[in-house]
Formats: sequence, structure tokens, C-alpha cells
Amino acid sequence: MSEYVLAVDLGGTQIRAARCDAAGHILERTALPARAAEGPAAVFARIGTSIRAVAGDWARVRAIGVSAPGPLDPWRGIILESPNLPGMIDFALKARLEQEFHLPAYIGNDANLAALGEHRFGAGRGVAHMIYLTISTGIGGGIITNNALFLGWRGFAGEVGHQTIDVNGPLCNCGNIGCLEALAAGWAIARDARDALRAGRASAIRAIAHDDLDQITGKVVVQAARAGDTLAREILERAGRYIGFGLVNLLHNFDTALFVLGGGIAIHAWEFLYPPMEATLRKHAFPSMSRSVRIVPAELGDDAGLLGAVVLVNESMSQ
Ligand SMILES: [Zn+2]
Repeated sequence: MSEYVLAVDLGGTQIRAARCDAAGHILERTALPARAAEGPAAVFARIGTSIRAVAGDWARVRAIGVSAPGPLDPWRGIILESPNLPGMIDFALKARLEQEFHLPAYIGNDANLAALGEHRFGAGRGVAHMIYLTISTGIGGGIITNNALFLGWRGFAGEVGHQTIDVNGPLCNCGNIGCLEALAAGWAIARDARDALRAGRASAIRAIAHDDLDQITGKVVVQAARAGDTLAREILERAGRYIGFGLVNLLHNFDTALFVLGGGIAIHAWEFLYPPMEATLRKHAFPSMSRSVRIVPAELGDDAGLLGAVVLVNESMSQ
């Protein structure tokens, strides 16, 4: 009986793989460094190594599911380009995996699949309309409407981090200005901290970063906030307010019932981000829409993408 899914989470720094059952239990797992700089052939070889390491009895494997950085074509299973995987351009990951392993393979955008994972096995269980946001180094997401992932025309939907929040805001990595990501992602939080320190603000952030501004990350700012630092708390509170405006836009556009927030910054800075984002949502969204919507932390941690790949396989093969 083919009951297992081999799930892969392909990241710029790590390749993780797991053998999972259809109910979302992880039975075996492994992790390898991606060594993305070595190029697509080497990365693909390591994806294969990670899959073989967890496969177990091949006769019981149903399919392979891969969570990969976008933008990608989820139907054809092609990675179109990826800033974190140099050289992986128009890379036919689905076809190459199927050729190598003689099994069906399915590919999805990492944030989209994390949304699917949280929806089926995590904080969104039983909720038909849910939007997932990951707040970490960047900001991504996935939109679930009527229990299904909303993909858009080309499969690019759910770029929640690149909605413009401030038309006079800072430049984003995507080339746009004032994106939610440019205001509230880990790199934006770090930039705000550096700017404030350069302007002469006193803060524990400086000592935590060993007096080296280049060592300031979103994580460092969260650490300082937890230690009671005023500047760090101010920066996170402002980020929380911006995220709140992002939620207002998403609520007005999608009339969702639940926001699930994951990613390192959201989870570790929850106590600082939640009050301003919740207050912003209540204050600025239509009361009839915001009244019953909830904002909750994600439950699956780093496994959201792996489990989302299981959901992708289950749903693709049941159609
Ligand atoms: Zn952007």
C-alpha cells in the first residue's frame, strides 16, 4: 500500500526532507546544507540524497512533494528563478524528480505550502477561510478560501509582503516602495535599529550586536525587546502596526475568518507585535468584518512547509 509522502523543504541554506504519513505525522527526517552557491546540479543532487535518506520502503511511497522558494510554476513544477538558489532559472524540478525516482512529484511555493500545512494540520484546522503570513527575514504568505489554496492566474498569488502600506515608504528588495516587507520584515526591523543607533539613540541592541551595526538582525532586536529595551520595543510596536494595516487590507479583500502568523519574528516577538496589530485591525477595518476575525500564532514551526507538501500531494492525487 502506498501511504507515505516524501516531503522536501528546499531552502537557500538547508534542504530538509521527511517521510510522512497522510495524516501529517513525520516518521523520519533529515537535513543537509543546501550549498546553493555550488549551483543547480549540485543542489539537485543533494535533494536526491535527502529523499533517499528518508525513503524507507520505496514500495510504500506514494509521491514526492517539494516546498521551494518562488516564484515558481506550481502546475508544471518549474522553479522560474530564485534569489536564494543562484542559477536555478526555469529549473524543471518536477520533471527531473519524476525521471529520477519514477514517482509523481508536486512542487509548491514555500509560503503557500506553509499555509496549506497550517490549514490542514496546524492553527487553521477546521477554518474554511484563512490567510497565513510568515514574518521572518522576509514576509510571505498563502491565502486559503473555501478550504483551497488561492493560486491566481500564474500561481503567484499570496505575495502579502509586497502590498504597499506606505506610498512614501522605504525601498523594498522587490523594487517597489513601502511594501509591508520593507516596513516589518526582519531586515526592515534591523535597518530601523541601525538607523536609530546611527542617529545616536541609546539601546541595548548595540551591546547585543557586539557594537557592530552589521551584526544587527531582526532576531537581535527581538532579543533586546525581551530584555526590556525601549528602542527595540518601539521598533517592534511600529512593525506590528504596519502588519495590522496589512491585515486590514487582506481582510477587506478576502473577508477571511482567521489570520495565522508564523516565521521567526512573528513567533518570538508575538507579545510585542500582537497588541498593535490587533488594535490596528479593530480600529481601521470595517467593524462588521473585523468583529469576529482572529489573529493567532502558527503551530507547526519549521515543519509547516514539509507538512504543506504532504497536503499538496494528498490534494493533487485525489483530484
Ligand atoms: Zn516589495
